[in-house]
Amino acid sequence: MDESNRPIQQVVIVGGGTAGWLTACILGAEFESGEQGLAITLVESPDTPTIGVGEGTWPSMRSTLKKIGISETTFMRHCGASLKQGTYFRQWREDAAGDSYYHPFTPPLGYAETNLAEHWLAGLCRDKPFAQAVTPQGALCDRAAAPKQIGIPEYGYVLNYGYHLDAGRFADLLQQTATQQFEVTHLQEHVEQVEIRSSGDIDALVTRTGKRIAGDLFVDCSGFESLLLSGHYQVPLVPVDRYLFNNRALAVQVPYEATAEAIRSTTWSTAQDSGWIWDIGLRDRRGVGYVHAADYCSDAQAHDALDRYLKETGVTKGLDALAPRMINFQSGYRQQLWHRNCVAIGLSGGFVEPLEASALVLIELSARALGR
Ligand SMILES: Cc1cc2nc3c(=O)[nH]c(=O)nc-3n(C[C@H](O)[C@H](O)[C@H](O)COP(=O)(O)OP(=O)(O)OC[C@H]3O[C@@H](n4cnc5c(N)ncnc54)[C@H](O)[C@@H]3O)c2cc1C
Repeated sequence: MDESNRPIQQVVIVGGGTAGWLTACILGAEFESGEQGLAITLVESPDTPTIGVGEGTWPSMRSTLKKIGISETTFMRHCGASLKQGTYFRQWREDAAGDSYYHPFTPPLGYAETNLAEHWLAGLCRDKPFAQAVTPQGALCDRAAAPKQIGIPEYGYVLNYGYHLDAGRFADLLQQTATQQFEVTHLQEHVEQVEIRSSGDIDALVTRTGKRIAGDLFVDCSGFESLLLSGHYQVPLVPVDRYLFNNRALAVQVPYEATAEAIRSTTWSTAQDSGWIWDIGLRDRRGVGYVHAADYCSDAQAHDALDRYLKETGVTKGLDALAPRMINFQSGYRQQLWHRNCVAIGLSGGFVEPLEASALVLIELSARALGR
């Protein structure tokens, strides 16, 4: 039999970050495991930590969680999650305190048939920002109100929403679901070698302890390392840092100081001299980070900008009392995402800077496309 026509029975996923576990769950929900179904193995290194950020989702996550069979209540409780109604951009047009606008998740009614922007530009409701003229979502966010009432069924909504979530706790919930519900085999082993067939397809992975993991299809979810697609197959990264200069983020987890502090239901995105700061309100803490360009901002300048922002937003002790960490990244994408019997999903396939919080949705879409 031509190897490229081999039926796929054994899928091996390398990486236990959000990409690996989401892919395992989405494939698990699509195909039955067992004799006639697909066997899925996920191997993750006990030594290489996950990236630990990625806390803002698109509304697509609702249908993904529903498909996987996780109840919204379980998800919210387990992941310390909050509802995200969009992004609140601050000081992007002028460096002035009052300069802000919403990018709400609810699009204008009938937007596919009628372009309301033309009417707004022509003067209709021009005294209001466009988003305010076409959707009530910004007004709701200003009042710290939710996009749905408590009695609305899980994943149902009045106004569209996604989530803010704790990335580590989310991977943990997905792991439980994948292993218990979809019988995914979980191995904690560091992959060191790749064995190939005469065709050039991957036959098996060999771990540091000598364990051999054979498969028909290999999904590379190994993060920036891109162990299989880049490391083994040498598929190059197409850099886009000529257009997107940011390449570092100074990230920190911030406990709430006042118990009465309202949890914001938008991601705050505040422009800075050399980048922008994200501020995500979870149930038990905030996740805050300064995405910036190292060529234009030293470590000390990044530290001072984030420290200033934290103090302005009510963190009395500032950055030094917390444990910030610097994350380096390069904006770019792999020239090919699928090569022979190996496909990359998540950071291993590419990453552009996180302004649109679009990486998790790409993982969801990639895993769904793979499952078809
Ligand atoms: C600053 C920043 C902010 C972001 N914000 C957002 C956001 O708001 N919204 C959003 O959607 N996305 C965001 N992202 C992207 C998001 O974090 C990632 O897309 C997501 O976490 C998926 O990561 P991953 O699973 O691909 O990689 P990782 O989390 O890095 O996981 C890689 C896995 O591979 C394993 N591994 C590596 N090498 C080996 C080996 N040799 N053997 C075995 N296992 C191995 C590791 O152990 C680990 O389990 C952000 C990213 C950055 C950098």
